[in-house]
Amino acid sequence: MFYIKPPTGKISFHIIEKCVLDRLEYIQLLYEGKPHEFNGDLEYLLENSVYDKIGHFILRLLASISQELFNYWIVRETLLFQTRLNYILPRQLYRLFKSILHQSEEFKDKKGLINKTLIDICNFFSKPLVFKHIVSKNHTKNCNFHKTKVRYEIIPDLIKKRKLDLNAGYAIVYCSKLKEVLKSLFYTHISKEVICMKSKAQYTINQDTRLDYLYYKIHSKIFRENQTSIKQGCITKENIDIEVKNFPLCMQHLHIRLRRVHRLSHYARFYYSLFLKDGGMQLKDAINYWKEEYSKPHSCSSNCLHNWKSNERKFMYSIRHFYGLEGSRKNYKSPTCELMCTSSSSPMYEGGCPFKSFDVNTLKHLLSLSLSNDHVTNLLKTLSPQTPQTSCAKFFKILNQDNSNDIVINSPLQYYLAMIN
Ligand code: SF4
Repeated sequence: MFYIKPPTGKISFHIIEKCVLDRLEYIQLLYEGKPHEFNGDLEYLLENSVYDKIGHFILRLLASISQELFNYWIVRETLLFQTRLNYILPRQLYRLFKSILHQSEEFKDKKGLINKTLIDICNFFSKPLVFKHIVSKNHTKNCNFHKTKVRYEIIPDLIKKRKLDLNAGYAIVYCSKLKEVLKSLFYTHISKEVICMKSKAQYTINQDTRLDYLYYKIHSKIFRENQTSIKQGCITKENIDIEVKNFPLCMQHLHIRLRRVHRLSHYARFYYSLFLKDGGMQLKDAINYWKEEYSKPHSCSSNCLHNWKSNERKFMYSIRHFYGLEGSRKNYKSPTCELMCTSSSSPMYEGGCPFKSFDVNTLKHLLSLSLSNDHVTNLLKTLSPQTPQTSCAKFFKILNQDNSNDIVINSPLQYYLAMIN
């Protein structure tokens, strides 16, 4: 339950996804005080099982690239650790000390403060006399029969709440405070690990579309469905021609094309509609926006026969369907970058990711709508169609030079929300 070393071996991605999603659901319910309402599979949450470790480490990896996700996850993960600790049996507690000591053999830096403290605490409390005492009836809630000490800066939350006495830079840990100290060390250990793995994790997730997909999925699940802290998009029919400057290039391109030829092919219309919906466009505005364009004569070279007047019912149904108001009433989500990058096989399809599938002149033209010639030239030199999301992040950074934070682009919507936040 205090995991230091990730498991090794092969596992199917759908199992990983299950481990992560079930864990997220459970820790959220635990946080809300209703773990009994958990409908997932407890098999994925058995302490010390491979599934439990996978759920923990994958979430640790994904949380390491987003402060927002980390803040959300670490509070709940620490609560899970604390809950497990509260119900731990003596022999499990002893095994926990031994497990931490065993895993800590992997520490490259055994003298680092957090690593050394973990080793010292486990060595101290697993001594036969001390351990016998802490699992005995004589060991009460405020017992101070045995004590050790740790550096104060390693347990900042306990110091802040004045839970421990201080002496010359050390916090005194009485035996009754063991579980609180272990919980605090758990938090400190993971926080430190996440900082160390941040840049490598970003690369790993960028390169692996499955992890990228999972990141987007859980991010949407937590922050979009629950609508906790992300500012929502504010696209309307009236402001769209101004707001378009905050869109990623893929969606800018679709907007410009729609304004120019007044038609889009099926998938381009589908993805762009969902992007606008999740970007805040209300149903009424969406209907009027599409109506305005599709009422104009098309100027595309194909024999497009779509026209608002003769197909109004069909169009209305289709837009309402995107908004989950018709048919299966499915809540369609706007596309991920992965989907945008892989959906450009039809010659009729004018969408896709510009950084991946557009010819250099079209890309150059699109870039020049937002960037100076120098920026366009410099950016084009560094771009690679193999890593479109990295290219998109570079574009984002040029437009947001006052924002020094690195960003990983996972979806057009995420790009847009980051732009307006
Ligand atoms: Fe759009 Fe994603 Fe491509 Fe950026 S990387 S242009 S958001 S598909």
